[in-house]
Amino acid sequence: MAKQNRKPGKIWNNGNPPHNWKGDKVSLGGLHAWLGKHLGQPNYCAYCQTTDIKKAKVFQWANISHTYKRDFNDFIRLCAKCHKRYDLGRLTLNIDNDKENVL
Ligand SMILES: [Zn+2]
Repeated sequence: MAKQNRKPGKIWNNGNPPHNWKGDKVSLGGLHAWLGKHLGQPNYCAYCQTTDIKKAKVFQWANISHTYKRDFNDFIRLCAKCHKRYDLGRLTLNIDNDKENVL
């Protein structure tokens, strides 16, 4: 019996870039993925200083200026509670130039 030499079907992914660069209109999901990739996942809150995940529920990157630009200096680690309060304008962050020293 002749061995059938079947070529595996090759699917060419032409014109399908893995990610569309959206320029200034970066989706928040994309932005947070970018942050996680470069800065890692936050594991404490820079405001209430907790590192207790049970208390914080989740640690998130909060955008300081609310402009969501791709600038590492424009993000701060906050717990879910502080993040919500910050976004609602109920929390004032005391941000100076030595953010790098925050843990
Ligand atoms: Zn907090």
